[in-house]
Amino acid sequence: MTDWEDLRRDMVEFQIAARGLSDSRVLATMREVPRHLFVGRGMEASAYGDHALPIGEEQTISQPYMVALMTAALRLTGQEKVLEIGTGSGYQTAVISKLADRVFSVERIETLATRARETLDTLGLTNISILVGDGTIGWKEFAPYDRILVTAGSPAVPISLIEQLADPGILVIPVGPRKMQQLRIVEKRDGIIEKHDEGGCAFVPLVGKDAWEVPTG
Ligand code: SAM
Repeated sequence: MTDWEDLRRDMVEFQIAARGLSDSRVLATMREVPRHLFVGRGMEASAYGDHALPIGEEQTISQPYMVALMTAALRLTGQEKVLEIGTGSGYQTAVISKLADRVFSVERIETLATRARETLDTLGLTNISILVGDGTIGWKEFAPYDRILVTAGSPAVPISLIEQLADPGILVIPVGPRKMQQLRIVEKRDGIIEKHDEGGCAFVPLVGKDAWEVPTG
C-alpha cells in the first residue's frame, strides 16, 4: 500500500526545503494536504513528483515547489481574505485555505471548478468559495482582498486586480510572454505600489478580458 504521508514528507524535504524555502507554516501544510486526490485518476503515483501534471482541459496542477514559493510569497498569517485566480485542480486553494481566513477562487473552465469543488468538499474545507468566470476582472462582490494570487501567466498585471487589492496588500502573479514569465510580487502600502520579481517560471496562459485572448476553435 502506498504511504502517502512518506511521499509528502519527501516532497517537502527534497523538493521544497532543499531549495531554501523555510516558511514552517507552508512546509507543514504541504506535508498535510493530500495532493494525490487532486490529480486525475490513474496519476496518483506521480502526484508527488517534482513537476506539474496535466489535469485535463489543457491545464495543469502546478509543481509542488512553485505552489510553496507562491504561497510563501503571500506571507499569510491566518487572518487574510484571499482571492485566487485559476482554481485548476483546487490543490493550491486547499493549501491557502489552511493558512488564511477565507479563500475566494475564480476558474474559467466549469468542469475544473466542479471537480475542484468536489475534492475540496471531500476534505471538509469550508472556507472556500468558487466562481466560474473570468478572473482577470477579479471578484468585485467581496473586494478588497488582503492577498491576491494568480496561478496562470499574464502579459501584465490586470488593473482590476490592483484595484481589488486591499491596502496594505500583496498580489502574486506570473507576468511575461506566453511561455515564460517572471513571478512578480506587487505590494500596496499607503497607496503606493511596489513591485519586484522573484525569478523565472512557466505557467499556462491567463485567458480573459484583461490578459491573453480567449482561444478560438
Ligand atoms: N494552482 C492550480 C492547482 O493547484 O491545480 C493550478 C492552476 S493552473 C496552472 C491555471 C488555471 O488558471 C487553469 O485551471 C486555467 O483554466 C485557469 N485560468 C486561466 N485563465 C483564467 C481566467 N481568466 N480566470 C480564471 N481562471 C483562469
